[in-house]
Amino acid sequence: MKNNCIFCAIAEGEIPSFKIYEDELVLAYLDINPFSAGHALVIPKAHSEGLLDTSDETLAAIIARVKKVAAHIKTALPCDGFNIMQNNGEAAGQTVRHVHFHIIPRMAGDPLSFENRKGDMDALKALAARLAM
Ligand code: 5GP
Ligand code: ZN
Repeated sequence: MKNNCIFCAIAEGEIPSFKIYEDELVLAYLDINPFSAGHALVIPKAHSEGLLDTSDETLAAIIARVKKVAAHIKTALPCDGFNIMQNNGEAAGQTVRHVHFHIIPRMAGDPLSFENRKGDMDALKALAARLAM
């Protein structure tokens, strides 16, 4: 596996994902253990570990894609709002060492805690088809 990294393997298509958006720079797909319905991850295809070793140019390009995907999810899902989360380092809860931005859809008054819940694969597949851009 390239860089011994599961997100590189997803970017290379070696591991399947519930893809919702792709272009030359990034891939966006549903988190398999979502905090909420529609929880998506946006990753650069090129490997870097976190915010600090990713170039300013790449980060600027990624955040523009995060905005685009979040806007689509907000309309297509729909949801009332969303959180963007980006963890750096084990102490901050980063479990996959390939920089990624979480898009976490929120409903007004929801009791969401930021905890992974085991995703239902059939439901994720159907949702990815619905959210595909
Ligand atoms: P972190 O805690 O590193 O910010 O977030 C990593 C996220 O990646 C977690 O929410 C976890 O559920 C998700 N994740 C881990 N492995 C996979 C995978 O193989 N496929 C997908 N789609 N998500 C994954
Ligand atoms: Zn990687």
